[in-house]
Amino acid sequence: MQGRLENLDFEHFNQVFTLLGRTTDDYLFIFDLEKDVYAISETAVEQFALTESRFSDATRILKGVCHPDDWSMLEQNIAGIRNKTIKEHNLEYRWMSKKGFPVWISCRGQLILDNSGRIRYMVGRITELGRKNPIDNVTELYREVRFRSDLSELKSLAKKNGYLLQIGIDNFREINDKYGKEMGNEVLFSVAESIRECVKEKGTVYRMDGDEMAILVLEAPFGEEEPARKLYHEIRSQVDIMISKKGYQLFYTISGGSAYFYQADEDKASSLMEKAEFALHLAKQRGRNTYIAYDEEEYKLFVERLDMQEKLRQSVMDGFKGFKLYYQPIVNIEKKKILGAEALLRWSHEKFGMVSPVEFIPLLEESGLIIPVGRWIIKTAMNQCKKWKEADEDFRININLSFIQIKKSNIISDIDDCMKELDFDSRNVLFEITESGELEEGYMTKRILESFQRRKLNLGIDDFGTGYSNLRYIKEMMFDLVKIDREFIKNITQSQYDYLVVKQFTELSHSLNLRVCYEGVETYEDLQCVLQLKPDYIQGFYFAKPVTAEVFEKDYLCNELEF
Ligand code: C2E
Ligand code: CA
Ligand code: CA
Repeated sequence: MQGRLENLDFEHFNQVFTLLGRTTDDYLFIFDLEKDVYAISETAVEQFALTESRFSDATRILKGVCHPDDWSMLEQNIAGIRNKTIKEHNLEYRWMSKKGFPVWISCRGQLILDNSGRIRYMVGRITELGRKNPIDNVTELYREVRFRSDLSELKSLAKKNGYLLQIGIDNFREINDKYGKEMGNEVLFSVAESIRECVKEKGTVYRMDGDEMAILVLEAPFGEEEPARKLYHEIRSQVDIMISKKGYQLFYTISGGSAYFYQADEDKASSLMEKAEFALHLAKQRGRNTYIAYDEEEYKLFVERLDMQEKLRQSVMDGFKGFKLYYQPIVNIEKKKILGAEALLRWSHEKFGMVSPVEFIPLLEESGLIIPVGRWIIKTAMNQCKKWKEADEDFRININLSFIQIKKSNIISDIDDCMKELDFDSRNVLFEITESGELEEGYMTKRILESFQRRKLNLGIDDFGTGYSNLRYIKEMMFDLVKIDREFIKNITQSQYDYLVVKQFTELSHSLNLRVCYEGVETYEDLQCVLQLKPDYIQGFYFAKPVTAEVFEKDYLCNELEF
């Protein structure tokens, strides 16, 4: 079709297109073939490799956004239209997206001639073909767009019960990395197949973002068992069957999160997806290969944690306001003297009061805030120790390091800088690292621990006995001190087993030339009992709780004790 217009004003068209463009998912365009100027809906700039929605030198720029293999076809078509050998512009070809992948489009244009019959403009629309296709190619499931539209219909379904079950493949990223994308796609298809097998006519299955799939079930029969849990377990078994049937060499598991809705709910659809996603997130956090149903209380806790994390961030930004170091005395048994202290972090906030480090340190770790806070701890503790060591050259401060600091920050140079700045001697500090599977994690950790040793920085293994607990290994990792966890000391006067374990650990450590500290000695009886085992250091409420620097200095620093 061709049109003729009296006033051929590109500017005017352009404005109309901008407005119309906002009313549709398609991209509208106008192409001034004579002046080689082009205008397209603004949304195209977000999606495609274009920097502006209006540009001159259009042929060259179109060549840039067009897939290289498709350009000659497009070029010929435009040339044909210009010299009137081709009547219509109706092509399916590829444009490059902003992120650099090809997107199939359908482009239809119509010509506008001026009164003398000269071709002036081509106007039309570009449709993304994928968008119109509700089926995902990899899994043959409905795509998320379809899910969203089904969900909005759900709002109008006044009398429906049901649930949304969200499924995620736990180790999908590893599969992709290790076996390649093709294998990843096969796994996705296979899981989708398992889900279809179990859901049958009961509900609708959708492919969501990445490795996630969602099942929307209406009219769930609310019987004895929670139906979403039952469905999850059916799917899980089916997935396992499929893995062995297909003879895969790889193994994968799925997690599930669900959210229910009831006919009485005012607004069933809103936040249904967020709730199911949150439940899935929890399932993954709780060790994967498991199922969790959405729970309002848990969600509130989660939101509270986020809130606390935000407040922690503010504290850090306000010059570590609210953070404080407490010091717990460490007794040197041979010298019967308080010759050291462990620096323990405290945080208080007007909204939460004093929060336990057991609660807020994981939040600092998750958010990466532990890195700046960790630097502040090192500096504050060393500064304090510098003063205290005037009382005794051998006074030593113990500083806890989080694994995140070791893995994700340049911990060695942070420590170096701090020691230089304060002119601090490495013999007056020991760094405690919690025993965990992460210690094993290989090469990098080992390298970092080696640099500690090269700089003659003392290292201690914290909470020994709760994790990997292999002394030879710990010896190889170049630790100087083993802190035996409170769990073993707690019942030592009652439990023959604990007593023997601590005895063995201590003897073995000594034979490997490691020093030993007992944590959590609380009573006089505890003390009498553990002294027989000859530890090098003792730390516990029997001697003192963690206290402020002022109290430590006044009541404990270098005190000589009798026991
Ligand atoms: P941790 O490193 O094992 O610290 C020892 C914890 O045991 C301290 O708890 C201390 O108050 C407590 N404790 C000491 N003696 C006794 C006792 O006789 N009985 C009992 N029941 N408890 C005793 P706190 O200060 O609440 O710290 C808890 C944990 O938080 C620490 O365990 C450590 O993992 C972490 N943490 C504390 N400060 C820091 C820090 O500055 N950096 C890092 N990364 N973690 C820290
Ligand atoms: Ca510690
Ligand atoms: Ca400990």
